[in-house]
Amino acid sequence: MSFKKSEKLYQKGLTHLVGAVNSPVRAFASVGGNPLFIKKAKGSKIIDVDGNEYVDLVLSYGPMILGHRHKSVEKAAKKALKNGYSFGASTENEITLAEIVCDAFPGMDKVRFVNSGTEAVLSGIRLARAFTGKDKIIKFSGCYHGHQDALLVAAGSGLATLSLPGSKGVPEGAVKNTLIAEYNNLDSVQAHFDKYDDIAGVIIEPVGGNMGVVIPQNNFLKDLKELCKKNGAVLIADEVMTGFRSKFGGAQEVLGVEADITCLGKVIGGGFPVGAYGARNEIMENVAPLGGMYQAGTLSGNPIAMAGGISTLTELKRQNPYEFFDEMGSKIETILLDAAKKYNVDLSVNRFGSMMNPFFTKVKVTNFEQAQTSDTEKFAVFFWEMIKNGVFLPPSQFEAWFLSSALSKKDIKIFEKATNKAMQKVA
Ligand code: PLP
Repeated sequence: MSFKKSEKLYQKGLTHLVGAVNSPVRAFASVGGNPLFIKKAKGSKIIDVDGNEYVDLVLSYGPMILGHRHKSVEKAAKKALKNGYSFGASTENEITLAEIVCDAFPGMDKVRFVNSGTEAVLSGIRLARAFTGKDKIIKFSGCYHGHQDALLVAAGSGLATLSLPGSKGVPEGAVKNTLIAEYNNLDSVQAHFDKYDDIAGVIIEPVGGNMGVVIPQNNFLKDLKELCKKNGAVLIADEVMTGFRSKFGGAQEVLGVEADITCLGKVIGGGFPVGAYGARNEIMENVAPLGGMYQAGTLSGNPIAMAGGISTLTELKRQNPYEFFDEMGSKIETILLDAAKKYNVDLSVNRFGSMMNPFFTKVKVTNFEQAQTSDTEKFAVFFWEMIKNGVFLPPSQFEAWFLSSALSKKDIKIFEKATNKAMQKVA
């Protein structure tokens, strides 16, 4: 397998792009080697500039839940394109997408569309503060909520990959109201409420997906909601990754919890740039022009993105692939565990529907500290062997793998063959 063209583009890209990438998660920093450059994708497959074809378990880090270039999404986007692509005024499709989103999340009477998950969360945090009149926010170590200053501490995703405790350039003052708790540890949240009476809210990925996949244990989410309520704080569910992916109503539907504020992204744009935050009326009434919490966007509610989002969610509802995800996910899980057993490799797999990943450790992973027991060197070996055998994975131990409804039995066979070779190499 040759990566010659990717290598050439990487060298060329270094001149004017930092690390030749536009997001550090795309760099191959922790697995060694240089990033692949992609030419095209279709269905469950992605193809690089050297013509190598892979079963894609990255799926643009989540949005491509129907697989690449789904017919109806492409048709809707093309149709929208013909009418013009940005107006700075409202369109009917914004109302249609808002209806679909609010129907799916019972805790949302109103929603505001933005352009990314980062914007959704930073607005959601501002809204929590505006609504409660308090300043402090509790976040969990290993959770990633985009690159806004206030939450770039003890964060997962690229920061975990690069072993960064936080980001340079974030002033102390920007994080002075950020408190850190441990995932799946209610006492660590309670301790903050015992100490401070100005906590506006608790933000959580209802299923962790940025420290690898970490699943809430027992009634962690429900208990967290109760604790917030008791202390006059709001629960902010960052469902940028899980929204419409875990179930149509997100992880909240699966876990039976209703957050006060919900942040969305990824799947709601079906590959086009969309984010959103929403809540019940009494909270959303604080947002301008109804209230004094200001948040705006030149391209927010962009017509092409709205069309992409509507068609993705409509198709998702029609397909209802959540049982299929479980079926395929459990096959992949079994393949990984069987191969690990066969080659005597310590492996612990976490999966929540169509989000999953293996940790190279004996430890059952329920928080960031445990995730960090994974042997990242073994992951790097595994990663490259999977690439060489036709499976595209995120180049980091701390990123979730995603499944799409385009995944086929044939793809699973490719995955099985690759996994066995990769696990043998790791052993
Ligand atoms: N929140 C979560 C849970 C995410 O996984 C991400 C991105 O991966 C974000 C927020 C930020 O979204 P974006 O990259 O679209 O700004």
